[in-house]
Amino acid sequence: MVRVAEQDGVQLRSLGGGYRDYARQEALWFDRMTRSRDEAKQPLVRRVWNGKLWFLKKGAPVAVPGTSNHGWGLSVDFDISDPLVYAWLDKHGPSYGFYMEAKPTKADGSKNPYFEPWHWTKVDLP
Ligand SMILES: [Zn+2]
Repeated sequence: MVRVAEQDGVQLRSLGGGYRDYARQEALWFDRMTRSRDEAKQPLVRRVWNGKLWFLKKGAPVAVPGTSNHGWGLSVDFDISDPLVYAWLDKHGPSYGFYMEAKPTKADGSKNPYFEPWHWTKVDLP
């Protein structure tokens, strides 16, 4: 996939690698999430962990520790600073078994506050 993208003039590079162990997932969680509504930057982005409600305080949404597909080595965060990268992945990713877990819109057509255009997950195609 990387080679084909390159032939199309697009550089696919991962940010921070794909695999993320539990300790790293937990560290990211404490860095980005807060129990305080007042501290929350995006109160719409909320998750429950160990029976408690948490809010996003900075950066991008992060998975509940232990539930990230990065923990299975299935997800990759691509560097999408070049808009051509996202456009290429959106068009060609699925034919390589890569899908976007957090799409731009929800089923009802409204904006998805959890949208992660850089986060792509590999699935085996039949
Ligand atoms: Zn990711």
